[in-house]
Amino acid sequence: MQFQKAEFVASYGTFSQIPPCNSMEIAFAGRSNVGKSTLINKIFQRKSLARVSAVPGKTATINFYRLDPLTIVDLPGYGYAKVAKSEKERWSGLISGYLGADRDLRLILLLIDMRHAPSKDDLQMIDFLVESELPFLIVLTKADKLNKTERTKRMQAFETEIPYFSQIHVIPFSAVTREGVAEVQGVLEEIASE
Ligand code: GDP
Repeated sequence: MQFQKAEFVASYGTFSQIPPCNSMEIAFAGRSNVGKSTLINKIFQRKSLARVSAVPGKTATINFYRLDPLTIVDLPGYGYAKVAKSEKERWSGLISGYLGADRDLRLILLLIDMRHAPSKDDLQMIDFLVESELPFLIVLTKADKLNKTERTKRMQAFETEIPYFSQIHVIPFSAVTREGVAEVQGVLEEIASE
């Protein structure tokens, strides 16, 4: 797959604006500042396909990209505390609206910062995905920020923090060392060839 050929399609601020599904979709989800824009840019070998923001909570839209035969869906980052309740409700409406819609959603990549325990929102998201029987994997971001000992500790902690962690496909990822880039690309390629 020529990942660098991914093209921006559109951004939507409300669920009702989202056009009907017309191809296989792959969604990226995670709390704001987890490194989602950075990961998308790495995977698609682009400097700024997804905007990387130093200010968390800016990605308040659902963004669609096209990489034939896939549609890549960048869900708004959740869990940012410093926004109004109405804004939070709009985001969660977008996320649950999209995930609950009858679309050809092949995989959700849920991003969690490897350094920290999953947030309440992360756990709620995992619960929702499991309950809805949606296919997902977990990408543990910013892996470069941990040394070997810290990493082993965090991986053990995830076993107790995340239900059924050992049964979930987990990909450690770092935009700095490029760990996990080829693995995520491989997953997308496999789906594209279905
Ligand atoms: P988003 O809000 O989830 O889209 O997060 P961003 O992609 O904007 O990243 C948030 C911050 O984390 C930025 O300062 C990034 O440079 C930093 N970041 C993202 N990925 C990595 C990574 O793999 N390693 C390190 N060290 N920093 C990262």
